[in-house]
Amino acid sequence: MARKIGSRYTANQILGRGSAGTVWLGEGPDGPVAVKLLREDLASDQELVGRFVQERTALLGLEHPRIVSVRDLVVDGNDLALVMDLVRGTDLRTRLERERRLAPEAAVAIVADVADALAAAHAAGVVHRDVKPENVLLDMQGPLGPGGAHPALLTDFGVAKLIDSPKRTRATKIIGTPDYLAPEIVEGLPPRAAVDIYALATVLYELLAGFTPFGGGHLGAVLRRHVTETVVPLPGIPEELWQLIVQCLAKAPASRLRASELASRLREQLPMLAGMPPLDVDEPDAGLSEEEAEDVPPAPVGSGEPVRRRGAVSLVTGAKPDSNRDTHTSMRVPAADELAGGAHGTARAPRAAGVPRPGSARHRAALRRRRITLGVAGVAVAAAVGVGAWLASGSGDDDQPTPPAHSTSAP
Ligand code: ADP
Ligand code: MG
Repeated sequence: MARKIGSRYTANQILGRGSAGTVWLGEGPDGPVAVKLLREDLASDQELVGRFVQERTALLGLEHPRIVSVRDLVVDGNDLALVMDLVRGTDLRTRLERERRLAPEAAVAIVADVADALAAAHAAGVVHRDVKPENVLLDMQGPLGPGGAHPALLTDFGVAKLIDSPKRTRATKIIGTPDYLAPEIVEGLPPRAAVDIYALATVLYELLAGFTPFGGGHLGAVLRRHVTETVVPLPGIPEELWQLIVQCLAKAPASRLRASELASRLREQLPMLAGMPPLDVDEPDAGLSEEEAEDVPPAPVGSGEPVRRRGAVSLVTGAKPDSNRDTHTSMRVPAADELAGGAHGTARAPRAAGVPRPGSARHRAALRRRRITLGVAGVAVAAAVGVGAWLASGSGDDDQPTPPAHSTSAP
């Protein structure tokens, strides 16, 4: 079911579907290409089409071996299409889902490639704004690198920016994917280069752990965690690597590394990581069941907060738990008092494999055994297990200068 895209391209076969549209294997005058046909509602939005044409220069100008180049933009009747380099391989999400966790060497090699891509983009004044495993393509025809990792290429440049028209996102709206959103975006500041570094560090954590540091549960809870919570070290992670992640997940954008420095610091660590197996980390559950939640006794921990059911803190009234990794286009910036609210201690707690999750049936069984041995009072002790580490990070010293890169804004 081939279809014509403009006068120069044909789309022959669907390669994948994304949030902004469908990606086709196509053919152009210079050989095979990937064609992303934007969603109908996006393509029929006059304002967006205008921006699309406006952004042409910035998008077409980005050329780098680690960037999936946009070769052409086609506006044809109701079709709005981006013609891109074809990458023969898979996306990083697919690989992660297959392997659950990557060996540190492969994870670091992939993330260093993406950091190279970001360095080139940031130097050209382009902020990606939607760095996540879905937007990293692995070129299976490229040479195998450290840890058996294929070359990684960053795609979807500028798509967030295109969708982000003033009409769609007034000052109160956020575009992006919740798990990867830098705290300054949640607070309503304009996205600068450092947001991509935060998102990439989140990806690195996710490749190593199998889950993102601040995801899980309600959208509002996820957004709030980005602003208020600190990451908990992954069991068994080499200290130098952990320090890099921590630095790039800093709440203050200016404290994060620049992309080029991140790339070189990551590559420096590759020799040390050679042959290291994936981390042995237990996946945290999405949340306790109602029954389990009721069973967890409220206990005073660091912040004086009761132990809460993880992921159950809703910021937006009526919000449902959100595990959607699509690019969101209508999140609202939470108000300051909402961000200050009590979501502390709801971040995902990495545990060494085999250690029961606090509040789980297994954990409670262990508790009961202990209660019998110890006599009384085991409950309060246990309720505090694993929760003490979260105090609001409060490192938001935003008076430092932000990095010099800007979002795309072709004249
Ligand atoms: P969206 O950003 O709209 O969600 P994606 O860009 O992630 O969509 O594309 C969806 C899928 O299409 C990807 O997961 C990938 O499998 C495939 N794809 C996207 N771009 C390319 C490309 N340049 N070459 C090959 N396959 C691609
Ligand atoms: Mg995408």
